[in-house]
Amino acid sequence: MKFISTRDTNNLNKFDSAFVIKKGIADDGGLFVPESFPVITADDIKALCAKNYVERAADILGLFLTDYTAEELKGAASAAYSKEAFEDGATVISKVGDNEILELWHGPTSAFKDMALQIMPRLLSTAIEKCGETRDALILVATSGDTGKAALEGYADVDRVRILVFYPSEGVSRIQKLQMQTQKGNNVKVAAIRGNFDDAQSGVKRIFTSADVAEKLDQKGLFFSSANSINWGRLAPQIVYYISAYCDLVNEGEINLGDKLNITVPTGNFGNILAAYIAKKMGLPVGKLICASNKNNILTDFFTTGVYDKRRVFYATISPSMDILISSNLERLLYFATDAEVCAGFMKDLSENGIFTVNEDLRAKLEEDFAAYCCDESLTKETIKKYFDSYSYLCDPHTAVGIYAADKYKVETGDKRAMLIASTASPYKFSAAVLEALGESVPEDDFEALRKLSEKTGTVPPKNLSSLADAVVRFDKIIDVKEMAPEVEDFAAL
Ligand SMILES: *Cc1c(COP(=O)(O)O)cnc(C)c1O
Repeated sequence: MKFISTRDTNNLNKFDSAFVIKKGIADDGGLFVPESFPVITADDIKALCAKNYVERAADILGLFLTDYTAEELKGAASAAYSKEAFEDGATVISKVGDNEILELWHGPTSAFKDMALQIMPRLLSTAIEKCGETRDALILVATSGDTGKAALEGYADVDRVRILVFYPSEGVSRIQKLQMQTQKGNNVKVAAIRGNFDDAQSGVKRIFTSADVAEKLDQKGLFFSSANSINWGRLAPQIVYYISAYCDLVNEGEINLGDKLNITVPTGNFGNILAAYIAKKMGLPVGKLICASNKNNILTDFFTTGVYDKRRVFYATISPSMDILISSNLERLLYFATDAEVCAGFMKDLSENGIFTVNEDLRAKLEEDFAAYCCDESLTKETIKKYFDSYSYLCDPHTAVGIYAADKYKVETGDKRAMLIASTASPYKFSAAVLEALGESVPEDDFEALRKLSEKTGTVPPKNLSSLADAVVRFDKIIDVKEMAPEVEDFAAL
């Protein structure tokens, strides 16, 4: 399997997966995609049904990462999805009403990003070897909270990789701050900056593109790499859980092999839902993919009108990981549905004018695979309360957006197929918003909110969150934005 860039109009450059994972983004600014979709047949799915998650992951990743050996993939998957990291299993499906809720947050940071960020660092470390790269990778992350912790947890103590995370000192919750400040591992470093998330992000971008810093790094035997969600290494592991969930539903007798399954995904950067789309194109029996957005409903508008217009108000919501105006991975869908030339044209319109429009033929073609719905703040809270009151099922605000969209789709279309909904975070990651949705007063202190949510709902918070109050703080440094580059150089000199 070779990979190409979504913007390579001459189709000249083809790369192996290891190179693509090490590189992150293509030189022409495009995203790497497989040049074709490997096919899985009903027999393949039947065979996967008899396997466990680690074996399914190794098999499915092996269809794309053909330059990795089966042993390498099996090794990476078993280290990533171990009992220590995922005590309850890599994924858990809860049947709630007539929905199958696919909980992807049983990993070490209680968010779905663990599913990719637990295995991708291992794939990267192998990629460095395979590419004959003599330097080690230095991962720089600017985070508004969740991604930084998931990346730290994934890269901690992984060979040939170091990771440095910057977060806005006053822009994250106390729990998020403690999650990062207490991170273990000999190859990690965390610094708070005086400023907001944008300051942290632009600081990282400046350092990333600075020839001066790159040269200093090179002298220390290091090169920059990114843990960004546009890296193919983060997308590929997400395909696995949709195929695996299908197998689990067959094994549990919820569906028959060959039945079509609808899938709803609470969407931000379009990575998670794109993975479900790729699973469908590979041959997994999938009906509709329902793209669920919060109040930032740019994708709902896109799928219903064909116009993607980012010139609009940005809302900070209670489902912050979906607060986004540029869904980077949509570029990959546009490429799959058209070609590099058309795709590059859309991206040019978007960067120059903040808007692009697809013609009616393309919009109708996308509608064969996708439906899209959005859910505002009060409907998100109502959904959390409704599902707790009716089914004793507690969900986080991101998942609530997905549940609302799935139920709306069913009512509007009368489609009776089984519905799988991706659940992307533990409700305890967003205790304050969930308590409020349940009509409770919200304690000032994060840990107090955690305790109260547990008491009111009779559910148990994940250990990684409740144990934080007693963890040892390793990184409590606060720096100015202009000290970020020296901080990177310091870390490189270690
Ligand atoms: C990142 C994230 C999302 C959005 O996923 P995309 O792949 O960016 O669409 C949804 N929910 C949670 C909790 C997340 O952390």
